[in-house]
Amino acid sequence: MEKKKTALITGGSRGIGKEIALHLAEKGMNIVFSYVSNEAAAKNTVEEIEKKGVKALSVKADVGSFKEVEHLINKALEKMGSIDVLVNNAGIIKDNLILRMKEEEFDDVIRVNLKGVFNCIKHVSKIMMKQRSGKIINISSIIGLMGNIGQVNYAAAKAGIFGITKSAAKELAKRGITVNAIAPGFIETEMTNTLSDKYKEAILKAIPLGKIGSSKDVANVVGFLASDAANYITGQIICVDGGMAMGSI
Ligand code: NAP
Repeated sequence: MEKKKTALITGGSRGIGKEIALHLAEKGMNIVFSYVSNEAAAKNTVEEIEKKGVKALSVKADVGSFKEVEHLINKALEKMGSIDVLVNNAGIIKDNLILRMKEEEFDDVIRVNLKGVFNCIKHVSKIMMKQRSGKIINISSIIGLMGNIGQVNYAAAKAGIFGITKSAAKELAKRGITVNAIAPGFIETEMTNTLSDKYKEAILKAIPLGKIGSSKDVANVVGFLASDAANYITGQIICVDGGMAMGSI
């Protein structure tokens, strides 16, 4: 019997990351995911993954911390024996207009959303280079392409992910590792639930397909990029946004 592949997903306890974890588990992969504070959600997600007949491990680790990521990767390797797919999904928002934005609000978002991606790629690529195979999928955002009022920190981090994706894709290609980014548009999760109905209505008008996306829409594309069907794709940015990044005119 062929050995099961292992996918490591950062921020897999809730939202889009959880949907990605369940989707890859359905495809027969063992799952390791990180979370940062919500232990109850992580426990619940482990149980849901195990029901799919694969192994699951959750590790409390802040992706912004180089040391904690090292610990996460060691734990994953110890329990599963390999890391074949890395999904850099963990992300936060700390929105504010430039004039009101505090230095910590800028630094925190860059630390988690951008440095977190570097930390994980740095540790996992070593393992994938030895294996001479691997798929790295970075979850960015169309805000990194379009910008957004009140999100200079988030937009900078998400645009930075495109730079990491293309550089890492070039650097790791010779070892059989692909690196791609997904740029979701407006997706229904706890991150977006806090926005006002008025704001949501305005967003809807800017989406050519006329509806808000679901976590499943994103997970489906991760599933494709993590599969052998995507072996010849690297360094790409795929928008999953109902056409929003094209602009509404
Ligand atoms: P979410 O519902 O807020 O979930 C965030 C996840 O990340 C949780 O599992 C959380 O763990 C984890 N996390 C937060 N900070 C972390 C840290 N420092 N270290 C490790 N894990 C951490 O977010 P989401 O809406 O699913 O978003 C997931 C990704 O998609 C993010 O990168 C986001 O920027 C991107 N995205 C989202 C949308 C959207 O419309 N929702 C659009 C474009 C891009 P705990 O449970 O422990 O808090």
